[in-house]
Amino acid sequence: MRTISYKLSGWWVVAIAILLSITQCTESTGLDDQMTPGSELDESVIQGAELTEAEIDGIRFMREEEKVARDVYIYLYEIHPLRPFLNISKSEQAHMDAIKYLIDTFDIEDPVGENPEGVFQNEELQQLYNVLIERGSTSREEALKVGALIEEVDIIDLQTELDSVAQNEDVIRVYTNLCKASESHLRAFTGVLALYSVEYTPVLLSQEEFDRILAD
Ligand code: MN
Ligand code: MN
Repeated sequence: MRTISYKLSGWWVVAIAILLSITQCTESTGLDDQMTPGSELDESVIQGAELTEAEIDGIRFMREEEKVARDVYIYLYEIHPLRPFLNISKSEQAHMDAIKYLIDTFDIEDPVGENPEGVFQNEELQQLYNVLIERGSTSREEALKVGALIEEVDIIDLQTELDSVAQNEDVIRVYTNLCKASESHLRAFTGVLALYSVEYTPVLLSQEEFDRILAD
């Protein structure tokens, strides 16, 4: 899904696929079954010292995805000095820090390191950043739409991790908090667009899910 979702032209395909699933910032109930006492998985979860390869990959990816959000907002704030870009970029820094905590806790190699703004190890995320800053530069409205789109991507990727990858309780807690913050950011960007009389149509989330988030 990630591979497809970052190709702007193909996003409608993903949007259809997502109509079939429900996206919400909650941990999957399915994981509870796997964590019943006595199961093989249970030991590593309780010890909390080991993550699956998929969890590690997810953490590394989300660390850079939060950086995409931060760096795009910093870039766009220079061009369109709208307060939400400044405030939300600071929030994205806090999200990067929260994932850095996981990276340090579990001794994972940090893909961000000393990379400056706009530089990413993951090529898909580099591409996403490049496309979004270009698109957001064209007008204030496009910039705000780019913001809303980034939050949609973030919500979906975090929820995918929560639904099918994250098992460790620290990881689940961080992702759940970040996902809720993304919903709040989505409300902020669409709210400012509404002030400019622009109605935002969700690109990746289903209309139903989008409406639920806005009503929260
Ligand atoms: Mn974030
Ligand atoms: Mn955000």
